[in-house]
Amino acid sequence: MEEPLDRSTVWPYVDGDVGSFYYARAGHPNGAAAERALGELDGGEAVLFASGTAATTAIVLALLEPRKRVALASGAYYGTGVTFTELGRWGLQHDLFDQTATPPEADLVWIEAPSNPHLTMPDFEAAAAHPAPVVCDATAATPIHLRPLEHGCDFVLHSATKYLAGHHDALLGAVVCRRAEDAERLRAFRNATGAAPAPDAAWLLLRGLKTLEVRVLRQTETARDLAERLRGHPAVTLVRYPGFGGLVSFDVESGPAARAVETGTRAIVNATSLGGTQTTIETRHRWEGDRVPEGLLRLSVGLEPAEELWVDLTNALART
Ligand SMILES: *Cc1c(COP(=O)(O)O)cnc(C)c1O
Repeated sequence: MEEPLDRSTVWPYVDGDVGSFYYARAGHPNGAAAERALGELDGGEAVLFASGTAATTAIVLALLEPRKRVALASGAYYGTGVTFTELGRWGLQHDLFDQTATPPEADLVWIEAPSNPHLTMPDFEAAAAHPAPVVCDATAATPIHLRPLEHGCDFVLHSATKYLAGHHDALLGAVVCRRAEDAERLRAFRNATGAAPAPDAAWLLLRGLKTLEVRVLRQTETARDLAERLRGHPAVTLVRYPGFGGLVSFDVESGPAARAVETGTRAIVNATSLGGTQTTIETRHRWEGDRVPEGLLRLSVGLEPAEELWVDLTNALART
């Protein structure tokens, strides 16, 4: 049955002793239940955080030391580089590398499968052969399509804000660890620094996970169909699609053309983020600058009928 939502911040001691739950920053029933469910899906031990970005911060601060070096996949989520740059003030160093090749010398390797928004896949064998621990951000793949711990990775990072919660109404992150002692370390760090998940968000994650498979498989089916049709469209110069998942990036000839497309849809919402039931589209150049072409549009396919989305896209593409 449904896990009841428990917003308590304190629970009574048990005959004077500290029980499983006592103060919400240290842990709460909805968080623990969602961690069990996600851990099972990814085949490891899950630790939730207040956001995907809080999870990223926790991994590097809890597991590295000042002046340690992260090899970061160059096409990885824009915000990951922003976080590492911010932490540069505290001595964190990071180098960008091409994740389809061998990672350079580093204390931590950070790959993303598939990368957002370029949608390239990492070379898992090359990453796993590296002596440093490997983190794989699998936000866009979800455990339905990919279980990175089975490909030699040590940590899976999820922005659970996206597909896992799945409805654009919960901000949450997670790290799934191969080793129980790493999960223990991350929990201690979370408690010490306060990046704890909200019970409401954890409850929504658990709710979202119940439909994860049907949502993601349907989104993949629609995204495959749209990627194929976009490839045949005369206004589209390039389609980036790894063959699975609900994200499709495609390029039109210029920045103004991309803007005409994103502002020309009706059913598809012009907004950031991804992984919801509602399809969204945006140009990424507004956020990422010259890391991405001005004409690149990222489409996050939701649960609407494919035909409805295609009609909307072709109408918008006609404005270019
Ligand atoms: C959104 C996102 C993040 C950051 O997660 P937040 O929950 O927004 O903090 C990290 N990685 C990827 C791939 C993302 O799409």
